Amino acid sequence: MVLPVSRRSLIAGSVAATAGALAPVSAARAAVPPAGRQMPGAYRYRVGDFEVTAITDGISRRPLAGDFVRNAPLEEVQAALSMAFLPTNTLSLPVTPLVVNTGRRLFLLDTGNGDLGAATTGQLLENLEAAGIDPNAIDAVVISHFHGDHINGLRSKAGEVAFPNAEIMVPAAEWAFWMDDGAMARAPEAMRGAFQNVRRVFGPMAKEVMRFEADTEIAPGLEALPAYGHTPGHTIFRIRSGSAGMLFLADTTNLPALFVRNPTWHVMFDMDGPAAAETRRRVLGMAADEGLLVHGYHYPFPAAGRIGRHGDRFRYVPVDWNPVL
Ligand SMILES: [Zn+2]
Repeated sequence: MVLPVSRRSLIAGSVAATAGALAPVSAARAAVPPAGRQMPGAYRYRVGDFEVTAITDGISRRPLAGDFVRNAPLEEVQAALSMAFLPTNTLSLPVTPLVVNTGRRLFLLDTGNGDLGAATTGQLLENLEAAGIDPNAIDAVVISHFHGDHINGLRSKAGEVAFPNAEIMVPAAEWAFWMDDGAMARAPEAMRGAFQNVRRVFGPMAKEVMRFEADTEIAPGLEALPAYGHTPGHTIFRIRSGSAGMLFLADTTNLPALFVRNPTWHVMFDMDGPAAAETRRRVLGMAADEGLLVHGYHYPFPAAGRIGRHGDRFRYVPVDWNPVL
C-alpha cells in the first residue's frame, strides 16, 4: 500500500537530503578540491631501437595580429583557424622539445623558453623530471636555430646552465649569422634583442660549443639537414634507427592548421619568407612521400604525426595515443 506523501514532508525530506550531502558522512563523498593545474606533459614513442620522448615546455599565447601571416589577408587566416575549430582572435603556440635516447647517448633537441617566457611556458625541467629524465644525464643538447623559444632553456635568467654535463651542438650557419657583430649592427632595431639574447646564452660557453655543418651525421642516427629561411641557419634533424625514421621539423612550419595546409604562407617569424616557403614545400613533400613520422616544435602536443599530400597542399594527421611502447 502506498502512503500519500504530503507536500510538507517532501520539502522536509529534500532539506534533510541536502544537509546529508554537505555533511562529511564518508571520505568517498567528501568534496575534492579541484587540482587547478595540468598533469605532466610527456609522451614517449619508439623510432626503431631509439626511445623518443616529447616534453612540453608549455604554450605561449598571443593575440592574432594582422601580420601574423605576412602574405595572406587576416580573413583568410581566421577562416583557416575556424576550419580547425581554433579561436580566431588569439593564437596558442605549443613549445615541445624532444628527448632522443639512442641507447648510447641521450640527446635533447631544443630547449624551450626556460624562465624567460610567459607564465604558461618554462615547464621543460619539471616535465623532464616527471618523465624520469635527469637533466644531468643529458649528453648533448642539439639546437635547430637561435630563436629564444629554442635556446633560452639552456641558461636561466640568473646565468645558470640547465644541462651541465651536455655537449652543446649548434648549426654552424646559425652561429655564423647570429654571432656576427656586423649582422647585429645591420639588423633592424626590433631584432637587436634577439642578437643580444644569443650572446647571453652562448657567450660564456662559446669556446665549447660544437658547430656542425649541414648535411652531416652529427651522431649515429642523427643527421642535420639544412632547412634555411625561417632563420639563416635553421636546421632540421633526421632521426634514423634501422629502417625506421622520423623528422624533427623544428620551425619548418608554425601551427599546422595554418602552414601545413597553406605552405606558401609566411609566418611573421620567418626571416626570409620566400626561402622558408620553398623549404616548407620541400620538407613537407619529403615527409609525405617517404611516409615519415614528424615532430613539429609548435604542433599540438605531443607534436607527433604524419603529413599527407593533396596536390600543392598538405594535411597533418596527429598520431593516436599509444598506451604501450
Ligand atoms: Zn620556434
